[in-house]
Amino acid sequence: QCITHCPVNGLHTRDDTEIVFDALNDPDKICIAQIAPAVRAAWGESVGLSHDQATVGKMACALRRMGVDYVFDTDFGADLTIMEEASEFIERLKRADSNEMPMFTSCCPGWVRFLKSQYPDMVSHLSTSKSPHQMFGAIIKTYVAEKLGVDPDKIFVMSIMPCVAKKHECDIPNINDAGAGKDVDVVITTREFVRMLRAEHVAIETLCDEPLDQPVSHASGAGVIFGATGGVMEAALRSAYYFVTGNNPDADMFESVRGMEGCKAQSFIINGQRLSCAVVSGLGNTRKLIEAICKGDVHYDFVEVMACPGGCSGGGGQPIHDGKEMAAVRANALYQLDKHEAIRHSHENPDIQKLYQEYLEHPLSEKAEKLLHTDHFGWDMPSQKN
Ligand code: SF4
Repeated sequence: QCITHCPVNGLHTRDDTEIVFDALNDPDKICIAQIAPAVRAAWGESVGLSHDQATVGKMACALRRMGVDYVFDTDFGADLTIMEEASEFIERLKRADSNEMPMFTSCCPGWVRFLKSQYPDMVSHLSTSKSPHQMFGAIIKTYVAEKLGVDPDKIFVMSIMPCVAKKHECDIPNINDAGAGKDVDVVITTREFVRMLRAEHVAIETLCDEPLDQPVSHASGAGVIFGATGGVMEAALRSAYYFVTGNNPDADMFESVRGMEGCKAQSFIINGQRLSCAVVSGLGNTRKLIEAICKGDVHYDFVEVMACPGGCSGGGGQPIHDGKEMAAVRANALYQLDKHEAIRHSHENPDIQKLYQEYLEHPLSEKAEKLLHTDHFGWDMPSQKN
């Protein structure tokens, strides 16, 4: 029995590795890969490496051997998402509009599809922030292209994700407005990445740790924990606290939102204001929570939802081990990485600070809204088209 869960039947989904190989073989294309946090905690399982051995540096080495020109870390995109989403949360708190609160996270496309199809009256509660890899794709085809001195029309962005739903997300027309085609050209899963390693006969034992590419090579521990249920909430609260008080919280101040329970509720006092937060994973748990919110049985300010039980670490594109659920093990690997990061707050990432100074100006600026936010009302679910 397979117990890897995917809200969009990911086990039977298409294989996009040929699209990647075609791009790699096209001399006119500049191929850029970005690697999601949850992937680094899982890819080694399929090639005989422990979590400690299966580093993102070895993934970078393997991708370059396969012909990828630049390798970036989606954790940078996660830090960017936190800058925008935490700022948006603070603005919504001030407005206190019942059509917008509680604010729901929007980085899980399985959840966004669920809400649009099952509770369309609540779509205005979704954060307008794009998911980390979409934000990063938009930045790669604008700011990074400028920095590298390359033609954005030649850039081919592939996202390596734990997720199958993101294959649909990167094709949503109104999410792709960076000015150089789609933000992300193709999404491949962790399993497809491993399939590529095998197809190209990459000798795993010869891989060494290679650095990621400039100009966006830094990521914070807050970006790393996005791959675990509760990680987005924890990362957002770390920065929201700083934005409101001007001081960093202890990086572990919000750790009570961690853990594999399907629904967790916590409240925190920030600057004298009590914030009620809920973290839910799995669509059955999500439905129960939304029903309780609709009935007025519970009240929250901020809600994180991940469609896969345990969050992206247990995503539908991850390696499958019959009879074993790996989400908790992989989440622990991510929390260990966070614990040992020198920078654990997204707003302290020096490359994020530089991006705002040189290009975006500030969170929620006109340019940030254009590149990093989306209109969830701007597209129909397939069943809504007729
Ligand atoms: Fe994809 Fe993560 Fe959502 Fe699962 S929880 S559908 S892996 S974004």
